[in-house]
Amino acid sequence: MNHPIPEIVARLETLYGVAEWKPRTEPLEELIHCILSQHTSDANSFRAYRLLRERFPTWEAVVSAPTEQVADAIRSGGLANQKAPRIQAVLKAIYEARRAYDLNWLGETPTEEARRFLLSLPGIGPKCTAIVLCFSLGRPVIPVDTHVFRVSWRLGLIPRSLGEAKAHDALEALVPEPLVYRFHVALIQHGRAVCKAPNPRCAQCPLTDLCNYYQQGQAGKAVEASV
Ligand code: SF4
Repeated sequence: MNHPIPEIVARLETLYGVAEWKPRTEPLEELIHCILSQHTSDANSFRAYRLLRERFPTWEAVVSAPTEQVADAIRSGGLANQKAPRIQAVLKAIYEARRAYDLNWLGETPTEEARRFLLSLPGIGPKCTAIVLCFSLGRPVIPVDTHVFRVSWRLGLIPRSLGEAKAHDALEALVPEPLVYRFHVALIQHGRAVCKAPNPRCAQCPLTDLCNYYQQGQAGKAVEASV
């Protein structure tokens, strides 16, 4: 099936509106929040981030503190004993690279160079890298969360077997740069509202004629009806 990305985005925007990029937070805050957001809800991760900053007002204080105290501060975000040492290791690596707890310089750095730097940080993978590049820096990079991944493979844009981690590159190769942010936001909204896991509400979807998952389901029903 040919994949008319502009058509997919246009149809979804009739449901959800057109997303406009605005900077969310500065890149270091975004990165630390991304670590905290792993395997928990947005509400829990935002609370953990707020408590971390209240307890340790500077990044230097986070690095200097005993790891158990950092873990205590972020306990509400889950997996605190794993996330606390990761946060300290990331901050140390940033300081060693730049002699500052700061990532604003990435704003002046070409996207691929910025991506390489972020991926070189301990425990930082494609998802957090893409989140910083997209949300903080406005780069044409697609953070692939569970909704983006699910809607993408159901539509047939990528094979499901690719997995979320490798989907970033595959989708970025497919989506025209000016549409990257709008595509990302539209798919998240669609995944939350209509193309849900485990049961998509295809009867409410404007993409049935473009969707592999739907078309295969229809083909299966036709075979069942003919036997
Ligand atoms: S037709 Fe169904 S499976 Fe396909 S994108 Fe729409 S809701 Fe998802």
